[in-house]
Amino acid sequence: DQFDLVSLCKSIIKQFKQVYKREISFHYKENQILMDGDELKIKQVIIILLDNAIKYSNEKIDVFLEGHENQVLVRVKDYGIGIPEDEIQHIFERFYRVDKARSRETGGSGLGLPIAKSIMNLHKGEINLISTQGEGTEVILRFSQKNNLLK
Ligand code: ATP
Repeated sequence: DQFDLVSLCKSIIKQFKQVYKREISFHYKENQILMDGDELKIKQVIIILLDNAIKYSNEKIDVFLEGHENQVLVRVKDYGIGIPEDEIQHIFERFYRVDKARSRETGGSGLGLPIAKSIMNLHKGEINLISTQGEGTEVILRFSQKNNLLK
């Protein structure tokens, strides 16, 4: 099925802003990016990333949506606690949580990122995470579909 990734991002961000009263800026150029795939599952991925950004930061959050000829990128960037370098390699393992004590306060199961990764795999996509402890985290979703229709 086809869906518009621009309006999907807008509606998720709008809901997060209302519920959490946080500053979330949406940066995009295209008015429409038609995608092939399961809209509900992609929605779940974006929710997982925003949910983490909310939990592990207090500052604003930036969401970038970029449509290129052969790929579409969604980047969720926060300026929060970040992840220690030696822990990043484990972050997509099921039930893995950085520093049990720090994570217990915020709740969660350690399943968010593994679920996001399996959904991205189903969509011929990739998920990558860049993080610096004490500075913040950026998660990048890369969809490579030749038939994305940009407008
Ligand atoms: P949930 O299953 O509710 O998402 P979770 O956040 O613990 O729980 P994951 O989303 O898989 O699970 O994340 C795994 C761990 O990675 C987290 O426990 C947290 O320590 C770390 N992490 C994930 N996203 C961020 C982020 N944006 N900033 C800092 N740490 C993060």
